[in-house]
Amino acid sequence: MNDTGAAGSPPGRDEAAFPVQHAGRCGDLAELDAQLVRCRACPRLVEWREEVAAHPRAAFRGQEYWARPVPGCGPSDAALAIVGLAPAAHGGNRTGRMFTGDASGDFLFAALHAVGLASRPTATHRGDGLELYGVRVTAPVHCAPPDNRPTPAERRTCRPWLSAELELLSPGLRTVVVLGAFGWQALLPVLGDAGWPLPRPRPAFGHGVQLTLPATGRRRELQVLGSYHPSQRNTFTGRLTFDMLVDLLSRAAGLAGLEPPGG
Ligand code: SF4
Repeated sequence: MNDTGAAGSPPGRDEAAFPVQHAGRCGDLAELDAQLVRCRACPRLVEWREEVAAHPRAAFRGQEYWARPVPGCGPSDAALAIVGLAPAAHGGNRTGRMFTGDASGDFLFAALHAVGLASRPTATHRGDGLELYGVRVTAPVHCAPPDNRPTPAERRTCRPWLSAELELLSPGLRTVVVLGAFGWQALLPVLGDAGWPLPRPRPAFGHGVQLTLPATGRRRELQVLGSYHPSQRNTFTGRLTFDMLVDLLSRAAGLAGLEPPGG
């Protein structure tokens, strides 16, 4: 593969066209993830993910940060996808797995475990033995952004990766849970690109909001559920309680046809 980006050759991995040129050509999720982690298409995010790694928090000093795009995690035949916005600087950007190693992930994986969708209630590093059952956790932006806020241009540049991931998941995918309003704004255009018809006007985000995207010749019906993001701002203030998230994930699991706990 040519990474030079010279005229007539495929774009280099530090060019904005790299995702659109590579994501759609991947035949399975393993190949997609392997291409994704090479991506350097967003200069600001590449600089930030590496800058953070060069200055670890005191608690993580001595650890080698991942400092690359963070792939989705979970099985390739997942019926339920959980979509955040982007990895956290000292969470996924450190451990290399979505929602792993930060407080939001602690809350999310404990809830997934309570619903029977995860093998353990904690996620600390890539080799911790965590297994997800029927669930894939991913994001529309795969590199940690400053202040957890990717720009609209960065969201657009990264979109082909999630579009391709949804394409590969689509034969079995039945439900998507979106964490937070920013994730909602970022995901809906991806679903539109991926072939699901979106209602107009687009429904506003809210916790528990459910959107049914009808089947087309190419796509089966998809249920989209909004959830408050399990950020500390939401969990410390009680805006999102553990029981609220467990209830919502149970509902999503039911819509996805996944086995209930103990089922
Ligand atoms: S955010 Fe997405 S498109 Fe931008 S560098 Fe990271 S993986 Fe590539």
